[in-house]
Amino acid sequence: MKNPDISAKLQKIKLLVSDVDGVLTDGNIEIHSDGVESKKFTVKDGAGVALGRIAGIPVAFLSARHSEATTIRAAEMGIRYCIQGRLDKLAAFHEICAHYNIDPLQAAYIGDGLVDIPVLENCGCAFAPADCHPLVAAVADQLTELRGGEGVLHAVVEIILAGQNRLTETMDQMRSKVYRG
Ligand SMILES: [Mg+2]
Repeated sequence: MKNPDISAKLQKIKLLVSDVDGVLTDGNIEIHSDGVESKKFTVKDGAGVALGRIAGIPVAFLSARHSEATTIRAAEMGIRYCIQGRLDKLAAFHEICAHYNIDPLQAAYIGDGLVDIPVLENCGCAFAPADCHPLVAAVADQLTELRGGEGVLHAVVEIILAGQNRLTETMDQMRSKVYRG
């Protein structure tokens, strides 16, 4: 890993952008004989998106591959920016940051594959799942203990908020929201 002490980086983060396959999923894609594909997302990451939203840290998705399953899941999570089918991920990452009027160094990124490396090297804080490609692990600031599809995004939101000393407060806000219904 590039940087074992990421506290200074975490304090600046205002936006989280995440890759999809291999981060929000285990990377497997089932393609059925009718051409429809399916993949598994965990509800934990939906809670992570909600937690980020409460803390004022929006989450965006950025995938090199287009998938209808991703579009549906992103809409369900209330994700405003779900950019798919872009191999030039760094350019797409910069477009997302520009939309939010956030400096790329104030945006964290999660990715597991080689195509993510340019973004991981040029974002404010680079995260990757435990089972990422070794070359990705080499450039990430921090790996999560979880593997892709196990709640990596939720874990990263918690790491960011803990680094900003806002985790307990945000959890409390989320809890009161849930209880209010
Ligand atoms: Mg990936």
